[in-house]
Amino acid sequence: MIKKGWDEFEIGAMLRTFDGSINDIAGTSQDDRSYSENSSYTASVADWRLIKPVFNKDYCIDCQFCWIYCPDVSIISRDKKMIGVDMDHCKGCGICVEVCPTNPKSLLMFPEQAEEEAEIASWPAKDEEK
Ligand code: SF4
Ligand code: SF4
Repeated sequence: MIKKGWDEFEIGAMLRTFDGSINDIAGTSQDDRSYSENSSYTASVADWRLIKPVFNKDYCIDCQFCWIYCPDVSIISRDKKMIGVDMDHCKGCGICVEVCPTNPKSLLMFPEQAEEEAEIASWPAKDEEK
């Protein structure tokens, strides 16, 4: 089968993430899932990214919201612990930042070229109004 480019699909077409069914999706790590040919995991959309999420573990409460909501399965979670972002597949949509409930947030969006260590060192303080 010839693989289609992202701009060749009919508008409204349903693109399935996996081939077949997975019984324990939450308990199956990314490496062990059977991603379909046309999923954004197999055909990376990371080159769309202009801004990227930076993860600051100091504030993370491991709620897993980012893992649940990321549309590109790019949040890496092991044993219910958030451990980082898979930048080979993250497309920079910012949904993970929107759903992160901590104050300050444990994930923030920065320009693609930003230095992660410098951004973490100047992380915003707690917003007292929240
Ligand atoms: S920005 Fe966040 S939610 Fe969006 S693809 Fe990247 S990791 Fe997933
Ligand atoms: S949503 Fe925020 S607090 Fe929850 S696991 Fe993700 S980074 Fe951590």
